[in-house]
Amino acid sequence: MDSLIESSPLAGLVASPIARPGPDTIAISNVDLSLGAGAARVHILKDISLRVGQGETIGLIGPSGSGKSTLLMVMAGLERPDSGEVVVNGTPFNALDEDALARFRGRQVGIVFQSFHLIPTMTALENVAVPLELAGHDDAAARAAQELESVGLGHRMHHYPSQLSGGEQQRVALARALAPDPAILVADEPTGNLDDTTGKQIVDLLFTKHAERGMTLVLVTHDSALAHRCDRVVRLRSGRIESDNKAQVKVEA
Ligand code: ADP
Ligand code: MG
Repeated sequence: MDSLIESSPLAGLVASPIARPGPDTIAISNVDLSLGAGAARVHILKDISLRVGQGETIGLIGPSGSGKSTLLMVMAGLERPDSGEVVVNGTPFNALDEDALARFRGRQVGIVFQSFHLIPTMTALENVAVPLELAGHDDAAARAAQELESVGLGHRMHHYPSQLSGGEQQRVALARALAPDPAILVADEPTGNLDDTTGKQIVDLLFTKHAERGMTLVLVTHDSALAHRCDRVVRLRSGRIESDNKAQVKVEA
């Protein structure tokens, strides 16, 4: 039923039946951020405020250079804003030093990038297990194996990234991001380096995992149909939130 609605032309006009947002998992208030030095300094995020409920899925869209990736980095605690506040799962990032923020990320934030970002000298299993070990999990190897099984890669655990297809590498990256059971998963154009069929499989897997685990999901995409699979669609333009109204965003074929 859900998939019928999602794939129909009415998608976006019908509220998603799985949307049951709880308390805010992400609360961003009046965030400004500039990056770069001297004449190359760019004011990227301008007075951004955004609240995302527990378990909610958000599609983040907007033209190239509008600040989508930077906003994702701010939510993930990988970039600190110049001003404003970021609170994830009740923890204000301002109150954490770099080490504490890194520990928080390791437990609570899963990140998936367009270009996979796997460590080439480590097997699939090691790519998933090592971050778990660093986050203090005693059962890292077993947990990593289980996570790889769950993304359909039980038979590829001892392969290196170069021995895996793009789709398989992104599955490893997804397993790595999900293994700590994070409160939020942020994905930056996760299908950008994949062909259409493989990309669709990764996205289906992402939504299956969301349905199983209920983490808050923020998905950056330039694909409006994909964004429409999310509960909300937020559009950025020139570093500002231009719209947070899914019904206003047309699905382009
Ligand atoms: P998007 O993901 O929407 O394409 P980005 O968040 O990557 O946009 O970038 C927004 C703007 O900020 C772009 O103009 C980009 O060139 C600039 N930018 C991103 N990172 C940096 C940086 N480290 N230093 C200077 N400018 C940057
Ligand atoms: Mg980007």
